[in-house]
Amino acid sequence: MSTFMSSLPRIEEHRVPVVFDCPHCHAERVAGTAYDLRETVRSGGRVPVWGWSSHWVRCSNCQTELHAKVSSGVLAGEMPASVTKLVRKYLPFPQRVLAVGSVVLAWAPVVGMVLGLVAVAATFRTRGWPRIVSVIGLVVATVFNAIGFSLLLVYAVQFGSKLPIAQ
Ligand SMILES: [Zn+2]
Repeated sequence: MSTFMSSLPRIEEHRVPVVFDCPHCHAERVAGTAYDLRETVRSGGRVPVWGWSSHWVRCSNCQTELHAKVSSGVLAGEMPASVTKLVRKYLPFPQRVLAVGSVVLAWAPVVGMVLGLVAVAATFRTRGWPRIVSVIGLVVATVFNAIGFSLLLVYAVQFGSKLPIAQ
């Protein structure tokens, strides 16, 4: 898994210098580099099958990658106070837990679905494997829940109120 994910081509585009207050190291009016990140999943190293882009600002003081709400082109024209409002700390740990949890509990009725939706929502605008894993978790959970509820419906129709879980 990690080998596959780390082999994702990452292309940093449109690097521009910005000045902002870093929410990670709390340096004020620190220099940073805004860039757009393009990631593409390629099948067999050739055919792009899935791609996305996201926006980031790298703090020159602590080297932390901060998630930006807008592209580097927009950030380039913003004042430091505006840039500060448009970046936020990237929180990978909860997202990783959510992503893994959504797959581990994908089989669970309702809970798997809810967890999958939350994980996808939490990782949608981030980069890296948690987003991919979350989507897989949600898809698996949807399939499991669809099959589960279909079976319940069939049993309910065939055996009236005698559901298999009530026995
Ligand atoms: Zn910093």
